[in-house]
Amino acid sequence: MNDDTNGQPTESADMRARRSFLSNDEESTPHTAFDPANETFSCRCGKPSCFSNRLQPFREHIARLYRAIAVCEAEGCLNEKGWSRVLYPLQMAASLEDIRADTSFVDDSASLFLCSTAAEYEAAKTEMACKYVGGLSVFTFLWMAYEATVELTLPNELKKLLKQKSLGERGRRLFEDHADSFPSPFGLKTLAGLTEQLCERGILFDDRLDRIRRKFDERGLAFSAEICREFRNFIAHGEDEAPEHEDWHHGRGQGEATARIRRFYSISRLLMVLIQALAVVGLSAHAQEIEWGYDDDFEPLIQEPRAVLVGLHLLDDEPS
Ligand SMILES: [Zn+2]
Repeated sequence: MNDDTNGQPTESADMRARRSFLSNDEESTPHTAFDPANETFSCRCGKPSCFSNRLQPFREHIARLYRAIAVCEAEGCLNEKGWSRVLYPLQMAASLEDIRADTSFVDDSASLFLCSTAAEYEAAKTEMACKYVGGLSVFTFLWMAYEATVELTLPNELKKLLKQKSLGERGRRLFEDHADSFPSPFGLKTLAGLTEQLCERGILFDDRLDRIRRKFDERGLAFSAEICREFRNFIAHGEDEAPEHEDWHHGRGQGEATARIRRFYSISRLLMVLIQALAVVGLSAHAQEIEWGYDDDFEPLIQEPRAVLVGLHLLDDEPS
């Protein structure tokens, strides 16, 4: 046993050669696993009034949600205790910088060295794997944060679902049964529509999407909670898979691969907006203004907690 490997088997010479070959290749195709996070919401229509131009960058949205909830809890603005279970996964989701995945690791042939087409295909596949694992990781943490928030919301209602830990279902039911209690976050309909479009274009989700469409006419909070819940079950039951790269789509629909990655981020944005709406209902009637960060001029941001939570996803100078 070699001491400096901590007892782990050492990497074979072949594996080292492969790693060095691929890492050289990656330098020519710079991308990060999280490029699709903001691409999902970038404006493609060019209109100044476009909703995309009003949204916070994706990662900043997570950080703002974290800060708002942390300050609300510290200042005693929230009725329930235990928001650390919401904060932990938000911090994890916001913490991710990049992810490396290498799909060629399982391949023991020499084709990557001998054939440039095989190497290009593998590099494209690896890029999609990085982006897929990135989107999946963010979504998984935000789903955890959403479930924890549902658990803390109106704890005297829908107790059976609470006891069964059917939190996805409980979330949707809260929005259905107590529709008047929740604020209607600005742009929700647009985000829900984008999510629906990406879920359709990314395929594999069709049966579940049909079911949701039959059930809901409006693209509101209950629809959003249901599409997130179905998407979570779809992922948990192994019905999704990383797409091929757009350049290698072999007759698949144009845009399908991109949509399959981007839908993780539009679902994740919806989850954050749902968390915001749920947290508003959790605010104490005595909640005072909070100081929760700094504006662009480094002046302290002091606002009513409700206004903070409802407008978190928007750039500061936008209406909420
Ligand atoms: Zn636009």
